[in-house]
Amino acid sequence: LNERVPEAEPNDEIGQLTRSINELLERLEASLNREKQFTSDASHELRTPLSVLRGTLEVLIRKPRTSDEYVEKIKTSLATIDRMSATIDQLLALAREEKGKNLVKEELELITFLEEIVDEAAVEHNRKIIFQSQSGVPIYVKANEKSLQMILSNLIQNAVKYSPQDSEIVVKTGITHALPFIEICDRGAGILGEHLDKIFDPFFREKSVVDQLIPGTGLGLAIVKKLAQESGIKISVSSEKGVGSTFRLDLPIS
Ligand code: ADP
Repeated sequence: LNERVPEAEPNDEIGQLTRSINELLERLEASLNREKQFTSDASHELRTPLSVLRGTLEVLIRKPRTSDEYVEKIKTSLATIDRMSATIDQLLALAREEKGKNLVKEELELITFLEEIVDEAAVEHNRKIIFQSQSGVPIYVKANEKSLQMILSNLIQNAVKYSPQDSEIVVKTGITHALPFIEICDRGAGILGEHLDKIFDPFFREKSVVDQLIPGTGLGLAIVKKLAQESGIKISVSSEKGVGSTFRLDLPIS
């Protein structure tokens, strides 16, 4: 694949054709390289906790322990297994092709739908989350409820995870230029400008969050991007390091 068709006469039709073929080969190569990288990153992501697990069990078997020590080691091992399961679930979500039946769109009223999601998330994360609607009238959209729910729960979870416990999180909705939108705003760590297009790549995490040992796999936003694409939702982000981030969803017209 890394070979190219030689371009003999750059200006004639054959020259143009060979250029197109070469461009196609380049794109194919880039896509295969991305897949290779993904497989290698995914294996690494699972191999690391597996090695930790193996180490723990080997130490346990080497010499007898008190029952308290056994319980403690088994508990940490179970937590490692749970984290690996969560990673596998995310990898499957990323690999799954939602076609036909699974992506049936229903009519949803956005304000009621979001109020419910925000209330549930506030309880789940034990965090105050403010909901604001800029529309005085109901907003009807056609969407796949499960996909939209998953997109929102990932974005709200990130807002919670990457901002201080007492800082404000706001979920907004409204209509601009006749199109419904949803925004999730936090006053947290923010994201470096140069990383704004990378955060949707599988396994990408900013160094600062890795250094702070904030748990995560770097798969959440890749799943969000895939679900949004499948549903025709445009996702954008604006952020400033140390100030906060706003993730915006522009929904297709009902
Ligand atoms: P994870 O949260 O598991 O690391 P994501 O794919 O959800 O994975 O996010 C990728 C990265 O984008 C995060 O590791 C973090 O560096 C950055 N990020 C995402 N959301 C936010 C946010 N609301 N505030 C600051 N950084 C964020």
